[in-house]
Amino acid sequence: MKVTIPIVDLYAQYKSIKKEIDNAIKDVICDSAFVGGPYVEKLEDRIAGYCNSKYAVALNSGTDALYLSLWALGIKQGDEVITTPFTFVATAEVIALLGAKPVFVDIQYDTFNIDPNLIEEKITKKTKAIIPVDLFGQPAQLDIISRIAKKHNLYVVEDACQAIGADFMNKRIGSISDITCFSFFPSKNLGAYGDGGIVTTNSKKISQTIRMLKNHGSIVKYKNEVIGISSRLDGIQANILLSKINHLDKWNEKRRRIALTYSRLLKDTLPIEISSKISNIKHVYHQYTIRIKKGKRDILKTDLDNAGIQTMIYYPTPLHLLKAMRYLGYKKGDFPVAEAASKEVLSLPIYPELRLKEIQLITNSIKNHV
Ligand SMILES: *Cc1c(COP(=O)(O)O)cnc(C)c1O
Repeated sequence: MKVTIPIVDLYAQYKSIKKEIDNAIKDVICDSAFVGGPYVEKLEDRIAGYCNSKYAVALNSGTDALYLSLWALGIKQGDEVITTPFTFVATAEVIALLGAKPVFVDIQYDTFNIDPNLIEEKITKKTKAIIPVDLFGQPAQLDIISRIAKKHNLYVVEDACQAIGADFMNKRIGSISDITCFSFFPSKNLGAYGDGGIVTTNSKKISQTIRMLKNHGSIVKYKNEVIGISSRLDGIQANILLSKINHLDKWNEKRRRIALTYSRLLKDTLPIEISSKISNIKHVYHQYTIRIKKGKRDILKTDLDNAGIQTMIYYPTPLHLLKAMRYLGYKKGDFPVAEAASKEVLSLPIYPELRLKEIQLITNSIKNHV
C-alpha cells in the first residue's frame, strides 16, 4: 500500500533547511573534526545553555545517556531502580544491563506517565533511583517525584528522550532532575542524521564521571583512570544539531498547534478519546497519541494504513510483559493502566511541516472509519 501521509517526514524538514545542513556537514569535513572535537564541545555548551543546566556531555545515543547516567551514579547488582512499564525498552534495559532490577510502577490514565502516587509503596532499602519518562513529549509529574526522591534519598534520572524543549512549571526540561537524558535519534524533535544523545546535569562530579566513562575511563588520553566504554558523538552530527537547534522552539510550537488542531477536530468523536495534558507544563508533542476504545484500535489502524495514512502504536507491549523481562517475574494484570493503554493507543502523523489540509484529511478519514 502507498503511504501518502507518513507519521514523520524527515525529508520535508531537510528541504526547509538544506543549505544550512549541507554547509554544516561540509565545515566538519573540511576541519576533519569527525569524532569529539570543537563542534561537539560547542554543542555541549549550546545544549547546557538551552536547558538551563550547568553541564552537558554529548554521547553516542539516548540509550547510552541513560546507561552511563546510572553507571556514573554507581547503580549495580543488587540495586533497584523504579520506572514506568509504558516506555521504549531502553529505559528499563539499561537498569538490567548494570545488573540492577527494574521495578515498575503503573502509569496515570490521562498522561501515560508514571503515577507518582504509586511510587512510594515500591521503595525498598535497595532502591537507588527513579527514572521518570516524559512520554510523547509531556513532562512527568516531576515536582512530586523529586519530593519523593529527596525524602528517600534517591536519584532522579529523567528520560527526556522525547521531550527536548519542554517545560515543567516554567522550568526547562534538563534543569530539574539530577541527570536528564536526551536522544538525537533522527525522528526525535531534535534529530541528528544518525545516532546521538546527551546528558545534562548541575553536578560537576557527575558530568566528569560520565565524561570519563564515555571515553574509555579517561579525560587525558592514555591516562585511563577507570574502566569505561566508547560512546562519543560525531562532529558531523554535532554541527547538524547546532544548526537545527536554532529552529527547535519554532518547530515545537508548530507541533503544539498541530496537536491543538487534531484535538479540536477529533473531540466528541466516539470511540476516540483525546488525551488530556496536565497544567503548568509545555508539551512538545513528540507524538500525538489518542485512545480508541471498545477494542476498535487495530481495525482503525488497518483502515488508515489502507488509506495511506501511517500511524504507530507506542507501545504495543508494556515492558513487564516482554520476553526479555520475563525473568523479573511480572505477570499480566500487574499494571492494568499500562496494559489497557497498550491496547488502545494510536499515534497520528505529527511533524512541523504537516499541513492543515493533511490534518483534515487524517481526521476525516478517522471519522469515516469509526
Ligand atoms: C528514543 C528513546 C530512547 C533511546 O534513545 P536512542 O537515541 O534511540 O538510543 C530512550 N527512551 C525513550 C523514551 C526514547 O523515546
